[in-house]
Amino acid sequence: MAQIKLQNVEDYYEIGEVLGSGHFGQVRAVLERASGVRWAGKFLKLRRSASSRLGLERRSVEREVEILQSLQHANIMALRDVFESRAEMVLIVELISGGELFDFIAEKESLSEEEAIEFLKQILKGVGFMHTKKIAHFDLKPENIMLADKTMPHPHIKIIDFGLAHHLKQGEEYKSLSGTPQYIAPEVINYEPLSEAADMWSIGVITYILLSGLSPFQGDNDEETLKNIVGMIYEFEENYFNQTSIMAKDFIEKLLLKDPIERMTADECLVHPWIKPLTRKQAANRSRSSINIKSFKKFNAKRKWKMSYNMVWACNRLFRLQLQCKSRSQEDPELRQCESDQEDTETKPASLIRRRLSSSS
Ligand code: ATP
Repeated sequence: MAQIKLQNVEDYYEIGEVLGSGHFGQVRAVLERASGVRWAGKFLKLRRSASSRLGLERRSVEREVEILQSLQHANIMALRDVFESRAEMVLIVELISGGELFDFIAEKESLSEEEAIEFLKQILKGVGFMHTKKIAHFDLKPENIMLADKTMPHPHIKIIDFGLAHHLKQGEEYKSLSGTPQYIAPEVINYEPLSEAADMWSIGVITYILLSGLSPFQGDNDEETLKNIVGMIYEFEENYFNQTSIMAKDFIEKLLLKDPIERMTADECLVHPWIKPLTRKQAANRSRSSINIKSFKKFNAKRKWKMSYNMVWACNRLFRLQLQCKSRSQEDPELRQCESDQEDTETKPASLIRRRLSSSS
């Protein structure tokens, strides 16, 4: 494992604005004092004690660091430096300034399948690289697919958030109940041994959404979504897929297969005729077909709304936990800003909202 610095991160980097928030901390822009180069700093709160309900176990962050260190690829967020103190760990990573791929697409008036494939190819290359290293991401979803610089003519994909990623070792079984309901594979829900194929399922779901603006297994609540996944209940609704090529549907069908062994691998996806047409007719079909941009925009707007709602929910929960630990006079003003009068009902099955098993309590 790389040298983790025990010095204060602020001796090396000036801390800037908040770029995003996760379940266990914030991501902020940082400026390297020595070079003047801008990076992003992922500040992760550590558990103070084994009985604490707040923060991550140190080992869990160390695993994320080890994984990022072994993944140097153009389509994967690069790790630069790591700092550690008693209360937190700070991962200095490549600054990704282009925002989320889905937000970029939602701003467009139209997008052909051919253009969508250019992004998908990059996702497949990044994921394929991870898989050659026997690392599975286990949390592929639109929020974790970003763009390096959206002002470039052909923006570059960057895969982020390796908090649930796992190094799969030969002869070792790995099971986990973590993930995000809409995107998780049936074997995760069934608590069966996991492999890289779980990521390929998620890519199938992402592609389905990208083309139609519909989420294939989405139910009225998470329980229903999980039931639909396990029951393999999905279809290509004609209303939403009338602009989609037959090859695109074939591509999705070969990923949304219940048996993980049957699913295409990332390398197989890259040579599927939808991604790499063999004939002129196939190529022409692809450029004539387009994504359902109207429906996609709606999906994305709803997704963003849910993300901000969940963040308020998480902040409220954190705030209440803090109240249990501290007296009112010591309340954290930042957490108080997150309070809302939204009803705080937990609809997610307990096991699946816990993002990292080691962080559950
Ligand atoms: P989660 O709770 O979803 O697992 P997390 O705590 O692991 O989150 P990330 O998902 O890695 O944190 O980052 C949270 C948010 O910060 C992202 O959704 C993104 O908006 C932003 N972000 C993360 N990494 C970068 C980066 N390198 N450059 C710019 N913004 C970033």
